[in-house]
Amino acid sequence: MKIEELLKDLDAITIIKLKNYLLENLLELCSTKNSNSKIISKYKKEEMICEKCGCKIYKNGTTKNGIQKYICSGCKITSSQTTNTIICHSKLSFEIWRNIIDNLLNGFSLRRIAEENNISLLTSFRLRHKVLYALKHFIEGIYLSGEIQSDEKYFSINLKGTKTKNMPRYSKKRTSTSSPYRGISHHKVCVVSSIDENDNLLLKIVGLGRCTTDMLNESLGQKLNEAKSITVDSASAYQKFCKKNNLTLNAIPSGFHSNDVYNISEINGIHSQLETWLKKFRGVSIRHLQEYLDWFVYIFTMKKRFMLNKIKTESYSKIIIDNNYIKSKNIFSIKIPIDLNVAYAEYINQS
Ligand SMILES: [Zn+2]
Repeated sequence: MKIEELLKDLDAITIIKLKNYLLENLLELCSTKNSNSKIISKYKKEEMICEKCGCKIYKNGTTKNGIQKYICSGCKITSSQTTNTIICHSKLSFEIWRNIIDNLLNGFSLRRIAEENNISLLTSFRLRHKVLYALKHFIEGIYLSGEIQSDEKYFSINLKGTKTKNMPRYSKKRTSTSSPYRGISHHKVCVVSSIDENDNLLLKIVGLGRCTTDMLNESLGQKLNEAKSITVDSASAYQKFCKKNNLTLNAIPSGFHSNDVYNISEINGIHSQLETWLKKFRGVSIRHLQEYLDWFVYIFTMKKRFMLNKIKTESYSKIIIDNNYIKSKNIFSIKIPIDLNVAYAEYINQS
């Protein structure tokens, strides 16, 4: 129900009384034991189908905290309102969740988030990744149309947090004193970054080394919706790509941001914003780099769509109702988006 609907029969005095009542009791009203699940149930579909067997799911009583439970008519698997959401198995209150999401939007350090919300550093770490993971659907829903600017950004490989046994083994006999690869080699992770005329942004890890047409097909190619043209400063990989997708290619001489008619200044600006923003996290592991890129895209998009004071609540409902739950133990085993054996081929001990 819309808030306007709720209020339409009230007179001015009652509305002012209501406002005062809400202000005085806000915390209490929002911090009931089931306030998180109440929000989720608002967005749950009337008719639910079991993911495992395809049968209808029925209501099946409530827990003592008032959380709705469900049962599948086919396989009898039970679930609840919070199953597969970020608050599944979480004992944290609405206010804490909302505050943590706000802290993350503000780019607070894990330590500060832990202190502010009275949670452990490990919980703080896990929650950050759960929130980043929950943004996947939001990011997947972004498409680019009309005129697009595109470029690539190359990152060094950061293996922070990767267990030694999972790293490529380095050869002890490294005879060559300098790497035979200069500039953009297969030691660099390539991120395709594109923005359209309506500020829809794409930042996607596509692989190792210089960007190829195949990499573009796999990333940008999946994200086009009535796109017309692409402006780039390095045309080689884009020529075939544009032909295949019926796009006009506007190429700017390499090293320039504009050729008087077209420019890629917007995407270049985003690259420098991204660089500054990533510095706050003091090195992001390659395993989690895509999550951080998604987080950046999320904040960028929300700032374009909403006034600052609305982003907090909007973010809360978006993240909390999304059924994209990742178990804590799985955070550490998120797949590395590149092949380390390719990246370090010449260093790997052959013996
Ligand atoms: Zn079932």
